[in-house]
Amino acid sequence: MTTQHALPSYLNPEDLGPWGQYLKQIDRVTPHLGNLSRWVETLKRPKRILTVDVPIERDDGSIAHYEGYRVQHNMSRGPGKGGVRFHQDVTLSEVMALSAWMTVKNAAVNVPYGGAKGGIRVDPKTLSRGELQRLTRRYTSEISLIIGPNKDIPAPDVNTNEQVMAWMMDSYAMIEGNLSTGVVTGKPISLGGSLGRREATGRGVFVVGQAAAAKRGVAIQGARVAIQGFGNVGGVAATMFADAGAKVIAVQDHTGTVVHSNGLDVAQLHKHVAETGGVKGFPGIEQFMDRDAFWGIESDILIPAALEQQITAANAPLIRTKIILEGANGPTTPEADDILSDKDILIVPDVLANAGGVTVSYFEWVQDFSSFFWSEDEINARLTRIMQDAFNAVWDVSQDKKVTLRTATFILACTRVLQAREVRGLYP
Ligand code: NAD
Repeated sequence: MTTQHALPSYLNPEDLGPWGQYLKQIDRVTPHLGNLSRWVETLKRPKRILTVDVPIERDDGSIAHYEGYRVQHNMSRGPGKGGVRFHQDVTLSEVMALSAWMTVKNAAVNVPYGGAKGGIRVDPKTLSRGELQRLTRRYTSEISLIIGPNKDIPAPDVNTNEQVMAWMMDSYAMIEGNLSTGVVTGKPISLGGSLGRREATGRGVFVVGQAAAAKRGVAIQGARVAIQGFGNVGGVAATMFADAGAKVIAVQDHTGTVVHSNGLDVAQLHKHVAETGGVKGFPGIEQFMDRDAFWGIESDILIPAALEQQITAANAPLIRTKIILEGANGPTTPEADDILSDKDILIVPDVLANAGGVTVSYFEWVQDFSSFFWSEDEINARLTRIMQDAFNAVWDVSQDKKVTLRTATFILACTRVLQAREVRGLYP
């Protein structure tokens, strides 16, 4: 029986970062996998890791080099699928963990994909538009060895968007000599993108939020919602909760925290962020707070929707809420998870709560293959059904096995992945 963890030689065994967080989650699910646990080591080793050098010519004529990655964690159930992140703190450990969470997420909502993720360690705010385009195109060229509509399909993540996806698609089309719109998702509508994709992750957070609130007896009307991250995920979730009658009492982004106990004007906040780049300076608030104070704000629903490892053993004891909806990937460390569960806070884990994005990415990919596009209502209705079904299936496992929703999601998803692994067998 193998029990050792896969430690690629270049990871620091003293601090595995987000990959260590993922390995602990796998250890927690292993006792529930029955005979399939024979295959669990598969989940602890990414199938393929590609590290690339991405050189570009800066506008001033100098040459800059950036480090990029594409990790394909597991492809037992289908081609790799997962976003591309441009951020100054991107590490291989982080991309490995994000790729593994994609494996779990895709299996949790039962879309026919494996898990993958990519990233470049760069602060895109320091680049001009032209530099960003050259960076994206060179990165795409470097990873074109392993991506493709039937191999691995990137999508947007932190600091990447529709425009970046359009450049990726175009670069891939130039290399391949044919127009393969299905090589990336999250594209502009004019290039085979899907209606509803931009809002899909936030919408999915809202749908599971409604389901979780019903289980906990929390009325959405009047519920106090606190959100960290006001981008694609947090910003859309804020709008949907506010439209449903909830009070968005606090929003934190990289510029600070704005608070109003009667609820912030979310539409005005979007306008302010679009104009100024952050929530800081938003008029008509009660308080502008320091970063750490955010976690002590009393709420009914808390939505971390920024980056991973935000809720830790240090701030979890401060948290006063009933439900946590993990819009971000990996926002809660395993130690914090235990503290929050002991406080009887219901956590809807990232691998379920933010799966709406990849679900509509799947719809986009299917539409691209068939060149037949669906209406927004159709997309939203299908998304809602998939998210509700996944939530209910996870809820039933959690009740049956008396485990948290996170472990229940991992049980359901890892069972699907390892069943596929088992029937496929090993090659040769
Ligand atoms: P985004 O770039 O659109 O927004 C990120 C937000 O986080 C911004 O408001 C930013 O100000 C804020 N932020 C950054 N650093 C912060 C800090 N230190 N403290 C507080 N706030 C900070 O990114 P996004 O697409 O909304 O992604 C957010 C999270 O959701 C990430 O973990 C991402 O992996 C995850 N996610 C995104 C999608 C998607 O479809 N976009 C899907 C699934 C999961």
